[in-house]
Amino acid sequence: MFGLEGKVIVVTGGNRGIGAAVVEVLEDLGAKVAYNYRSQPGEKGSLAHKCDVTSLEEMQAFAEKVEAELGPIYGIVANAGITADGLFPRLTPEKWHAVIDANLNGVYNTFNPIIPKMYERKEGAIVMISSIVGEHGNIGQANYATAKAALIGLGKTLGLEGARYNVRANVVAPGFTATDMLKGIPDKVVDKIKLTIPMRRFADAKEIAWATAFFLSPTLSSYTTGQVLAVDGGRHT
Ligand code: NDP
Repeated sequence: MFGLEGKVIVVTGGNRGIGAAVVEVLEDLGAKVAYNYRSQPGEKGSLAHKCDVTSLEEMQAFAEKVEAELGPIYGIVANAGITADGLFPRLTPEKWHAVIDANLNGVYNTFNPIIPKMYERKEGAIVMISSIVGEHGNIGQANYATAKAALIGLGKTLGLEGARYNVRANVVAPGFTATDMLKGIPDKVVDKIKLTIPMRRFADAKEIAWATAFFLSPTLSSYTTGQVLAVDGGRHT
């Protein structure tokens, strides 16, 4: 039904958290999934490669390896991301650049070696993992919100540009999702945050992965491009 059997899909940061759930769901749907990681490899997927999204050279080498070992790349999920929070007066240049580098420049580095070939082949689907913070802002996350908002502009632009090449680009904007990224939040604060979510719980990473699989599907979302889908338990703000 999803039409992803045998399709080669690249996921950044596929070793844990949302990325690992995306790898697992896509593999269950019959795709050949390659992912990169910085620390430790995960458990699923057809190919795992250690490289950093902040390096264009490393991402070019990764794309070449995927094509050589698995075949032409049909899909990309730009998922890798970090946070380095602080109210603006305490947002050091290091924190600013680290977050923009990983969450925004890393997406450019991922797409650079792959999208031109998709346009040549006239087939492909791209998904970026943004955040509701990119749409609404968040206190203490000026760097992160800026990068995530930029992905929405990128998704809309690639939606326009890619349409004539049969390459669709869409954005998933998760709300709070139970992964390592939220681990540092004290229990009391977690309880307060949950009260702001109409569904009164965090997302499971799989729930973000299913939305991602929908956007990758050449059957289920064949006429959908340039869209942003919030998966946020009804929070919207
Ligand atoms: P995690 O912290 O659990 O995982 C982050 C992933 O990104 C890891 O796989 C990590 O690899 C990888 N990564 C980070 N920096 C790099 C890099 N420079 N090069 C390669 N890989 C890198 O986070 P989540 O799974 O929660 O987040 C995934 C995405 O979802 C992120 O873009 C995040 O901003 C977004 N998101 C998350 C939300 C949440 O509440 N959790 C809400 C909204 C959006 P490694 O393990 O090797 O470090």
